[in-house]
Amino acid sequence: MDFVGKKMLVVSAHPGDLLWRCSGAVAKHVQLCGEVQAIVLTYGVGGEANELIEAGMTVQEAKEERTRALKKAGDILGISNLELWDLNDYRFEITQDKTYKLAKYLRICKPDIILTHHGKDILNPDHGVILDYVNMAMEVAGGKGIEIEGTVPGFKRAPIFCFEPHNAESNGFVPTLFVDITDVIQKKIDAMATFELKKSLAASYLERASYRAVNARSFGRGKCKYAEAYAAVYPVAQDGYFVY
Ligand SMILES: [Zn+2]
Repeated sequence: MDFVGKKMLVVSAHPGDLLWRCSGAVAKHVQLCGEVQAIVLTYGVGGEANELIEAGMTVQEAKEERTRALKKAGDILGISNLELWDLNDYRFEITQDKTYKLAKYLRICKPDIILTHHGKDILNPDHGVILDYVNMAMEVAGGKGIEIEGTVPGFKRAPIFCFEPHNAESNGFVPTLFVDITDVIQKKIDAMATFELKKSLAASYLERASYRAVNARSFGRGKCKYAEAYAAVYPVAQDGYFVY
């Protein structure tokens, strides 16, 4: 499969999700000459940024710190366009305005593949709704009779792959795809390190990548040392997308 120029779009609820859950696949896609864009819907100040608030930062300072770290991580990973939308988290609510905003982005970006959250996460109230949000926006983007300023109606549905929630078993997450990130693992490590006060979480996601490699080896990826797990939302009917 030729990934040259293929566009991957990541839609994450909070900044950290981009790092813990899919930064390996992002780095891999860029390495294979694909393009990656990312939308981070909120700054995560409702929960993910607790350690920054506890360290004495104001909410505004926490947002600025997250912006700094995320931009650095985006550069490490080679993300071509990284947007922080500053929507409210805890809890994220799907509205028509938000749906049309994402639909507009989809019509302009035209991603070939989308990575986003699994549809259930009992440990985070935002994660579970994002898949519905992305799916709804995709349907709106494809609506020929829906006019959104600055866009041409229509959108070719892109396959969605869900990245792993923190606790897979409690959320019914069943991987259907393992992405071998062995040769880009240092990019994932460096990207996760940009969140300087989350070292233990970064370490746990490195362990997770090692564990998922055990799974990947069981299914034929013999030399895999690090992997990320994904679950396909739609039946895979297109030619080889996201199989590497
Ligand atoms: Zn999150």
